[in-house]
Amino acid sequence: NHALLWLRADLRVTDNTALNYAIASGLPVIAVYIVTPMQWYQHHISGRQIDLIERRLHVVKQQLNDINIPLLVVECHDFSTVPATIATLCQQHQISAVYCNRQHPWNEKQRDFAVEQALIAQDRQWHCVDDYCVLPPGSVLTQQQKMYKVFTPYRNAWLKQFLSYNYQPVTNSDKVTFSQHCLNLLEGKSKVNGDIQTFNYSKQDSLLWPVDESAIQQRLQMFCETKAEYYQQQRDFPAIDGTSCLSPYLAIGALSARQCLAALMEALPQCVEINKQNGAFVWLSEVIWREFYNHLLDSYGRLSKHQPFQLYTHHVRWLENSDHLHAWQQGKTGFPIVDAAMRQLATTGWMHNRLRMISASFLVKDMLCDWRIGEQWFMQQLIDGELASNNGGWQWAASTGTDAQPYFRVFNPTTQSERFDPNGEFIRQWVPELQYVPDKYIHSPSLWSGFGDVDYPLPIVDHKQMRLLAIDSYKQAKTCY
Ligand code: FAD
Repeated sequence: NHALLWLRADLRVTDNTALNYAIASGLPVIAVYIVTPMQWYQHHISGRQIDLIERRLHVVKQQLNDINIPLLVVECHDFSTVPATIATLCQQHQISAVYCNRQHPWNEKQRDFAVEQALIAQDRQWHCVDDYCVLPPGSVLTQQQKMYKVFTPYRNAWLKQFLSYNYQPVTNSDKVTFSQHCLNLLEGKSKVNGDIQTFNYSKQDSLLWPVDESAIQQRLQMFCETKAEYYQQQRDFPAIDGTSCLSPYLAIGALSARQCLAALMEALPQCVEINKQNGAFVWLSEVIWREFYNHLLDSYGRLSKHQPFQLYTHHVRWLENSDHLHAWQQGKTGFPIVDAAMRQLATTGWMHNRLRMISASFLVKDMLCDWRIGEQWFMQQLIDGELASNNGGWQWAASTGTDAQPYFRVFNPTTQSERFDPNGEFIRQWVPELQYVPDKYIHSPSLWSGFGDVDYPLPIVDHKQMRLLAIDSYKQAKTCY
């Protein structure tokens, strides 16, 4: 008998809960990763993230190999054929128990339910365990046993639980069992250990993000030791390298949130207790936002189904202007900070958080475009695309979410630009046409007398007008509800 470890958004060998359980079962473990190109396409997963997954899988395969666990990579068209594929694998490899880490989006939960049923029918065990969040969804609740809808009380309850919890990540290199050695002897590595085939997906290179273990751990270490302290002062300025840039790894599970917090606590052990305004605490809070959005996604199925959290916003009347949408996607809106952000996204697959807020707000409030169109575009581009955080971020910016930006507080893209990129350093990096525009006009270049010689568009909208229109549209939606 064997155990099957089914890897999904948990592409790591250290601190992988399902892997630890599988090893602890005492059975020889075989691992599998299932490639689902059509499902990825339907979920708008970016070609960059798939490239990152493929590259990372080569590393994981080697790491698993080092502890004598062979990795199979099989392809299914989409989730619908996964249960039959797992059932067949179980028959082929005499698998009596399947181990995996729980995923929180709706379709993944439905898929897992179907797999569980298929396994029960064959009298095999199914162990789906919590791993993606530090604290499992459903474990941070109000006194009425409900999910929090507002972040700050959620964070307080989360911290209380976290501080009384052993958050240390678990390594497993010492856990290679005798049975695992037998697996090698009996089956021969080559039998189940072929090369990973190139994924059948339209990919874009993800080389800005190294995938080997030491590079990822070093990035985490370096951030916690040298930057976390200054995070609060630096995190809002896109020209400064002040955030961790770890999101792509967290999204595919090359790194766990527990590992992040353990590294933070080791570097700055007092960050939770002393002064809640220190940089490290603010970074910890961002990781807690990730938990908040994942817990919400788990509690509210509708968030996975293109539904707003605030139901009244169903009635907002969005405008459809394909020229404007195209300009936003291409970084040609005539608002330099938005254009720089959108070009950074298109070129690297990553965008700074402040810019995600500004460009999302611009699409929704200055273009009055349905937030779901922006959410999908981000997902198609982002290397760190993650349903919970992307949906949470978009619903925050669109004022359709829980604890979102109130609809009447509309970001002014020009003042945001003046505040967070004061000298236009970031703008000039990504919008080279504006290289020689004087600092004074860098945020509104069309006001500069030399603008006629610059190959850059006029602003596609009038912010003041669109702001009023947006506020009015939300107001009207409220009265319809
Ligand atoms: P750091 O500032 O170093 O933060 C550390 C980690 O905390 C991040 O890696 C991330 O896992 C988490 N985190 C930070 N901020 C947030 C946040 N606001 N919400 C949830 N988690 C957070 N994040 C994603 O991981 N995937 C997405 O698809 C995504 N889409 C977004 C869309 C919009 C419109 C907005 C406003 C935000 C989105 N975010 C998303 C959140 C945030 O912008 C990114 O997590 C962050 O910019 C990643 O950079 P970093 O790793 O340097 O973050």
